[in-house]
This record gives sequence, structure tokens and C-alpha cells, in this order.
Amino acid sequence: MEDCIFCKITRKEIPAETVYEDDKVIAIKDINPQAPVHVLIIPKEHYDSILTVPAGNCIISDMHMVANRLALKFGIVDSGFRLVNNCGEDGGQTVDHIHYHLLGGRELTWPPG
Ligand code: C5P
Repeated sequence: MEDCIFCKITRKEIPAETVYEDDKVIAIKDINPQAPVHVLIIPKEHYDSILTVPAGNCIISDMHMVANRLALKFGIVDSGFRLVNNCGEDGGQTVDHIHYHLLGGRELTWPPG
């Protein structure tokens, strides 16, 4: 996707603080962190949202595995963390390229705003 900001990050056309990368997934620090640990887990292949990932595609489980690895890496397994996918306008999605937010390092309240 030519104009997609996360596709541009994946292609290294705009800078981001990468904390993990493999052939399918990249993870970056969020530029506007909402917690001491706030990482975005982004598939390299473009899907507008969780709604457009085809059935049987493994990318969702790949993203979850990366989240587990990063939770370990950032030391938030014992204290706990949250993995969030915002979908659509009312869901708070602002970048139309599927991603998970990994949040931790402080007590997270519920319900979210
Ligand atoms: O779930 P949502 O689509 O709103 O999340 C997009 C996230 O991408 C925001 O938390 C925003 O701070 C982050 N972002 C970023 N780097 C960019 C553009 C957006 O970390 N260059």
C-alpha cells in the first residue's frame, strides 16, 4: 500500500524505533506511548483491519507470539500486560493497517475510555 504509514515503516521509508523484526512481523515503539511499555506489533503484509485477514491466515497467531516474546523482553510478564486491537472508527483505529498495541509497565484500568 503506497500511502499507508505502517507499510512505509515496514519498508524503512520513515523512521521508527524497531524492537523486533522477522520476515512477517515488525514491532516498533509507539511514538505517543500510553504506558511505560507501549509497542505496536505490525504485520508486514497490509490488511486494513482484523476484519480483512482471511480465514486460515496465520498472521494473527504470529503477532500473538511476537507479543509474548516482547512481554518477556520488556519484563512485563509477571506484572501483567494488555494486548489491544482497535478496529474501526468507534473502536479507536486511526491507522488502517492491522496492528496490536502491547501495553504494560503500569496498572491498566478497565474499562478503557
Ligand atoms: O489503534 P490505532 O490505529 O489508533 O493506533 C495507531 C498508533 O500508531 C497510535 O498509538 C500512534 O501513536 C501510533 N503511530 C506511531 N508512529 C507513527 C504513526 C502512528 O507509533 N508514525
